[in-house]
Formats: sequence, structure tokens, C-alpha cells
Amino acid sequence: MSLIISDILHHLHINNINEAFSTGSNWGSSPDAAVKDIFSPTDGKKIASVKMATATDYNAVVESAAKAFKTWRTIPAPKRGEIVRQIGEQLRVNKKELGTLVSYEMGKSLQEGYGEVQEMIDICDFAVGLSRQLYGLTMHSERPEHRMYEQYHPLGIVGVISAFNFPVAVWSWNAMLAWVCGDVCIWKPSEKTPLTAIACQHIAQTVFKANNIEDGVSCLVIGDREIGELMANDTRVPLVSATGSTRMGKAVSAAVGARLGKSLLELGGNNAIIITENADLDMSLIGAVFGAVGTAGQRCTSTRRLIIHEHVYEAFKQKLVNAYQQIKIGDPLNENNHMGPLIDQDAVTLYLASIEKCKAEGGNFVVEGGKLDGDAYSSGCYVKPCIAEVENHYQIVQHETFAPILYLIKFKTIEEAIELQNGVPQGLSSAIMTQNLREAETFLSYAGSDCGIANVNIGTSGAEIGGAFGGEKETGGGRESGSDAWKVYMRRQTNTINYSKTLPLAQGIKFDL
Ligand code: NAD
Repeated sequence: MSLIISDILHHLHINNINEAFSTGSNWGSSPDAAVKDIFSPTDGKKIASVKMATATDYNAVVESAAKAFKTWRTIPAPKRGEIVRQIGEQLRVNKKELGTLVSYEMGKSLQEGYGEVQEMIDICDFAVGLSRQLYGLTMHSERPEHRMYEQYHPLGIVGVISAFNFPVAVWSWNAMLAWVCGDVCIWKPSEKTPLTAIACQHIAQTVFKANNIEDGVSCLVIGDREIGELMANDTRVPLVSATGSTRMGKAVSAAVGARLGKSLLELGGNNAIIITENADLDMSLIGAVFGAVGTAGQRCTSTRRLIIHEHVYEAFKQKLVNAYQQIKIGDPLNENNHMGPLIDQDAVTLYLASIEKCKAEGGNFVVEGGKLDGDAYSSGCYVKPCIAEVENHYQIVQHETFAPILYLIKFKTIEEAIELQNGVPQGLSSAIMTQNLREAETFLSYAGSDCGIANVNIGTSGAEIGGAFGGEKETGGGRESGSDAWKVYMRRQTNTINYSKTLPLAQGIKFDL
């Protein structure tokens, strides 16, 4: 085990990673559980060996969660909120270590690792307030001396399937809201980033224990996609919240839909920034470069396309090319570097194949890509961020390549720019850079961006937790995090109470005996 990892685990009081869960739920206890070695994309070192859950383990976890739900739902929501507040406090205490672990295991820059933990803290704070605001509506009954209202009840078990690129934040967006709503959670993290998940489970479970809450409210199952498939098909799991590729989302949606369960899908994006001739080009540059190279282009909200007005196209291209020369690539734990590695060597292969496809379709690379070699890049996961001039209709441009490849597309009119922006199967994040009110408002209007997120003078990448987060079309339609996203974690019930001495029927229907 690497030194960084043992220090962090020591700080988090995790003595044995394969026992960290024993303070929560019992995945990996089957004697036939397979063991998977986990390697850091940062330096290629083996981080740990983690037991993978079997179907038997999964079942045991579901049973423990189902049992815990019966008690957890009886605890008043503000008291559940108090426990989430304490989890937020523990995340504050452990921010540095957890952020470092995120950075080392996943490969994003240390600043982004800390940022991800901060996002968890923010959603805890949000959920604490929410725990006193799970409001229903009251409405006037058409019948005399009747009262009508709506209330929200917890759903039960919420299954959370998460992706490698936000190994901890996505879980917290789901779990903190689900917990204050009275649900229990089973988390199946990405098999590529199990250690951060074990650390989070450990932190949460320590708080639950200190509050004498029985095991099963917070559950973790480390496993491959087969565990996700079990969850998607499991009628004991009323809601499956799945974050990952569109391919995965289609499979989960079909399985959950076939049993008429609920799914919340957060899938791939193909995000564009429109840069008009009225844009502040310096501001646009920061938004574009951070959006394209941050997390090595492995954010669902990463900027993949720049749609640039013909009058500023050449000038902006030159600025981009110059900026790309300044980008420092290397160990993400070294804060001088802007960009770390891709998640693994398979991701490098996909990146290289996408470059080839783009060239074959006619793409003109103004900043060349390629794999980086040498001692500093010995994990084999480091690549160069690159820029290509393309047409929006190229197959490769229509596809989300999870890597730092930025496409440049030229436009003449704002209407054309919006059409190009919307002209992809995905609908997650979008942005316009302009100081012109008409352009900005057109972009935000019903005739504008078709994405779940539409920003003005901000890039596509990153979002605050206060708004509902998610996207349309192949991004899946789900909404997580802030605003009223909590409603998906609860079931709605309409109640009508008759306090009169007769039984009038709705719509004035007569029925006398
Ligand atoms: P992935 O789809 O390969 O895996 C995501 C998770 O789904 C993993 O835990 C995996 O084990 C599980 N899984 C895979 N196939 C499954 C199946 N058939 N049934 C059930 N579970 C299954 O994605 P990834 O490579 O880890 O992550 C990258 C993708 O995630 C990108 O497409 C990115 O845009 C997307 N993403 C979207 C958001 C969002 O909020 N919209 C956020 C983060 C990542």
C-alpha cells in the first residue's frame, strides 16, 4: 500500500479497508468474494486490494437496509437533519485527507479534490435546512367541511450507482437528501474508485454509530456493474439514482422501468460554450480552458465544444493556442500542475482513438494531442490536451469522449449558434459568453439552449449545489442536489379528511342507500 494512502487511512482511523464497512454493512463477507487490486492513475502504484461483493453479499446488505428503514423513518426529519449536520462537521474535519485521497485515487487536481469535498459539506448544510422544509401543499376541498392536503413520505431504500469522475460528491448529493427525507441508502460506487467510497462510508457510519443509529441506514457495496444490475432489477429498491455513461443509463432505465420503479439518471454531456462577437474574450478564455482541461476533461460538464463567432474566431483561437502552451501536466497532488492523468490506460486508448476518428472525418488539429511518456508519466495515463477545428455534424463531435479534446466550430448568427449548441444528442450544460442582453436572453429563452444548465458569462463546468442539477435528452432528465430535487426521494400522498356528518361524493355524484 502506498505511503500516501496509509497516512490518509490512518488519519481516518481506517485500520483495514476491507473491514471499514463492518461498521456499516457486510459486503465482501462471502468466502468466494473476489479481490480487486486498485492502482492510482497518478503514479501507477497499487493503492489497495479490495474485496468485491457477491450477489449473496448484496442481498444481505439490502436486508439490513430494509430493516433499518423501519426505524430510521420514525425519527423526526429535523433530528435526521441533525445527524447529517454532524456528518458535514466530520467532512470539514477530514477535508484535507479526503480531498487528497480523491485526487490520488481518481487523478483530479488537489484543488478539485478539495472542491469535491467542499461540495459534500455544502450539500450537508443544504440538507440540514431542508430537514425542516419538506413541505406539502394544502388545497381547498370542493366538499363542505372537508380538508385536503398533500404530504411526502420516505420511499425506502435508495440505490446510488456512481461514476469514477466525482467519486464522492455524487453520493453525498443523493445520500444527504435521501437521509433527511427518511430513506436509507445503498451505494455502489465506481469499481475504479472504491477507496474514497470506503472512506466516506467510514466517516458517515462513525456518526451514525455515535448517535446510536442501527447499521443499514448508510450501506456500501463495492462491486462491478453486475451489482448495479442487481440493484436496477431489485423491487426492494424503489429508487435507483444512477450517474454514469448514457450506455449505462439506458440499461438501468430499462431494468427499473420494466418493474415500474423510479430512476434518477445523470448521464453524459456534450457541452458547448457559445462565444459571440460581444464576448469578453479574456473571461471566455478562462472559462473555456478550465472547462476543457479541468479534471483532464473528465467532468460530465466539461467543455467539449466552442462555438465561436466568425469575427472573433481567429483571435480567440490564437489566445487558446497560447494558453494551451502554458498548461502544466503532471502529478495532480503538485499544486503547480493544472492537469493530471486520465483515470486509466483504457481511457487513454479511447482518447487516442477519438483523435484518429476526428482526423479521419476532416478535423484539423491546431493543438496536437498524444500520450505523454517519461518518468513523470510512468502510470501511462497522462495525455496532452488538444484542440481541433471541426464541423458539428462529425460523428466524433456528436459523441462524448471523456478526455481533454476541445472542438472549435464557427458561426455567423446567434440563431445558428444555438442550433449548433443544441445539435447533439446530449443536453447537460451550456453557456454563452456575451455582454449583449439580447444574445443572452435569446440563449436563455424557450428558443435558446435545450440543456438542463444554461449559463451566461460562466463556463459549462461546475455548478453550485443550490440549483437542481441535471440535463435533458441523452443526459437522462434527472435532477439532483438543490432546489426541489428532494421530491424525487419521497412519495407524495394526497389526503382528504371529512369532518362533516354526511358523506358527500366528489363531482356531486348522488349515491343513496
Ligand atoms: P460508467 O457508465 O462506465 O459507470 C458508472 C457506474 O455505473 C459504475 O458504478 C458502473 O459499475 C455502473 N454500471 C455500468 N454499467 C451498468 C449497468 N448496466 N447496470 C448498472 N450499473 C452499471 O461511467 P464512468 O466511466 O464511471 O463515468 C463517466 C460517465 O459518467 C460520463 O459519461 C459522464 O458524463 C457521466 N457522468 C454524468 C454526471 C451527471 O451528473 N450527468 C456526473 C458524473 C459523471
